This record gives sequence, structure tokens and C-alpha cells, in this order.
Amino acid sequence: MPDDPAHDPSAQCCARCRYPLEGLPPHAPCPECGSRKRRTGDAGDASTGAIVSLALGVISAACLFLGPAAAFTLLLGPAAVAMGAAAAWTGRRTLRTDGPCAFAGIVLGGVSFVLLVTILGFAFFLTTP
Ligand SMILES: [Zn+2]
Repeated sequence: MPDDPAHDPSAQCCARCRYPLEGLPPHAPCPECGSRKRRTGDAGDASTGAIVSLALGVISAACLFLGPAAAFTLLLGPAAVAMGAAAAWTGRRTLRTDGPCAFAGIVLGGVSFVLLVTILGFAFFLTTP
């Protein structure tokens, strides 16, 4: 049955762990985590995650230049990296579109976080006798 949607290579993956379920019987549990919930293998969540990661990265980098708001970078930087990594992982089938977005989020979040930690480190050394 060539038209069976269950055999569409991009059709389904596990709703919990995103394990690709192509080729499995339609109601078989996930071999990775045992969940029976499925979702269409679209990139909706990954795209959202990649965009959120990019936004967090931009805000995180921007906070660096806003004095006391730099404290947010300590939170937003790692969050951007985590979101970007999660988006890259869940969207690994569609990385052509989500990849650059998630990558930019990871880089922006990571760089701004490392920069802030470096600056704080220097400030600590300069103010410590
Ligand atoms: Zn699973």
C-alpha cells in the first residue's frame, strides 16, 4: 500500500522523545520510551524553539549593554543555548531551515554569557585587593 500515511517517511515521530516512528505499525508504542502518543513529524515546535532561542540570544546580548540588566544575561544566555540545542535536536530533520536560527541563538546566548562571565571575572579581580 504505497499511499498508507503510516509509511510516509516524514509522517510521524514519538510525542514524548521525538524518536522517528516511520515503518512501525500505526499503534505500536515508541521503542525508545514506550509512549503511545504520536505527533506528525512537522517542524512546528522546532521552528518555535529555534526562533525563541534566537530571540533569547538577541535579548541576552542586548542586556550586556544595559548595565544592571546584564544580570538577565546570566539567565537568558544559557536559556538561549538550551533552547537552540533542543530545537536543533528536535528539528534535526529540517535543520536546513531551523539550523541557522537555532545556531544563531546558541552563539548569541553562549557568547554573551561567556562575555559577561569574563567581564565579571575581571571586575572581581580588579576590585579584590
Ligand atoms: Zn518515545
